[in-house]
Amino acid sequence: MIVMKFGGTSVGSAERYRSVAQLVGSYQEKQPLVVVSAMSGTTDWLLSTARAMAEGGRNSADGLTAERMMADFHARYQKVVDETITTPEIRSRTFSEVASLLHHLLRLLTGIEMLGELSPRSLDAVAAFGEKLSSKVAAAALQDAGYRAEAVSAEELIVTDSAFNRALPLMAQTAEKCRARLLPLLEAGIIPVITGFIGATQEGITTTLGRGGSDYSASIIGAALDSGEIWIWTDVNGVMSADPRLVPTARSLKRISYAEAGELSHFGAKVIHPMTVMPAVEKNIPLYIKNTFEPAFPGTRIDRSDQGAEGLVKAIASTRGLALLTVAGSSILAVPGIAARVFARVSEKNVNVYMISHASSGHDLCFVVEKQAAQPLVQSLHREFELEVARKEIESIIADTEVTIIAVVGAGMRGTPGVSGRIFSTLGQKSINVIAIAQGSSELNVSLIVAATDERAAVQAIHDEFLSFTGLGRSMRHRVAEIGAK
Ligand code: ASP
Ligand code: MG
Repeated sequence: MIVMKFGGTSVGSAERYRSVAQLVGSYQEKQPLVVVSAMSGTTDWLLSTARAMAEGGRNSADGLTAERMMADFHARYQKVVDETITTPEIRSRTFSEVASLLHHLLRLLTGIEMLGELSPRSLDAVAAFGEKLSSKVAAAALQDAGYRAEAVSAEELIVTDSAFNRALPLMAQTAEKCRARLLPLLEAGIIPVITGFIGATQEGITTTLGRGGSDYSASIIGAALDSGEIWIWTDVNGVMSADPRLVPTARSLKRISYAEAGELSHFGAKVIHPMTVMPAVEKNIPLYIKNTFEPAFPGTRIDRSDQGAEGLVKAIASTRGLALLTVAGSSILAVPGIAARVFARVSEKNVNVYMISHASSGHDLCFVVEKQAAQPLVQSLHREFELEVARKEIESIIADTEVTIIAVVGAGMRGTPGVSGRIFSTLGQKSINVIAIAQGSSELNVSLIVAATDERAAVQAIHDEFLSFTGLGRSMRHRVAEIGAK
């Protein structure tokens, strides 16, 4: 049994739906279960339309109405169905399935428009339509290609808490539902085509797992059914050693560990949703990242293996759009509870922290957050520490919004002395200034902050040092030079 998840670009057009059907069909003997994302662009459209409706809809300057917004959307899906499905009966049935989903969506959007209000719960109800539509089209494409397939909404499968927009699965109940609903389909030779991204609370209210959550859905379902493997089909050749737009010599990684994949997913390497590895780790199910545009390419295998020996550094990820906040003062460590108060404000604002660095001199505390969170946080910290600022215990609270965080990841760094030294001397040679550093005690990841303008040069330099031909190490380079000379 293999769970195969297809992302938005893999189902981005009629042609893509047809090739997904071919691809899945070619693995029929492996008992595939399909998980689909919404067509690329759909979720963004649903979210922005829901917001536009709440913010004025019909009363807005251009008089947007739910009906008008929906007309183009409906036409787009009609065209996709028309171009994907050739068998007349399947096509007309899919048309009416799509029409009924869109009718329901229109009613929701009209409700939002009339109330002028959009709760997290309503937002999830709207966002779920992308995957619902997609599963209908993908199931129909499989049927059209001659396979037995059935669209299944994950509202029937994944039971979540009620943290709308970012729900978490309740695994025991989910496993029960998945088995009861999906195993009979597989036994009957029917390929389930499941909506990614969504679930439902115990009361049956639709939730979503957060943006990009379809990967997580695949992994939840794989773990619930104890599937042999989970394949994430995307639009790149697996996990790369660096962003190929920054480093032309970046290459795809054959095999990495769950822990390495987890680190990379948090830092800009947006190949998989950060939560994806968790259910897989628990059941020890290998994940594969594969390219729908190049299906023969083996992609990246993610498993328990600690492939440390294979290389010190596996990959370098960089994340833009961040800000570095610094709370500085000559004696902030001497004042008890400063850090606790700083992070209490951070969590109150529901802000995600990417990295924390605090030198033992206690002079300053730096941490990295998303850019748009920076200014409000600085203001809130100023209010919090009014007294300490007045007493000059805290000298400044500032945000630098032009920074990039670079994460150097590899299990082989663990317990290997000198890796950080090499990273910093490499950057030093290139005259790249390192603003702050952090290394987790797992030693899987060294994170550094550089000016945003140094991103490309820094990633390239570290990649050259550890991952390119020139990074093979001096003795190896020597050997290769020798062989070359002969
Ligand atoms: N369609 C959802 C999103 O765009 C989930 C996903 O694609 O994984 O975030
Ligand atoms: Mg994705």
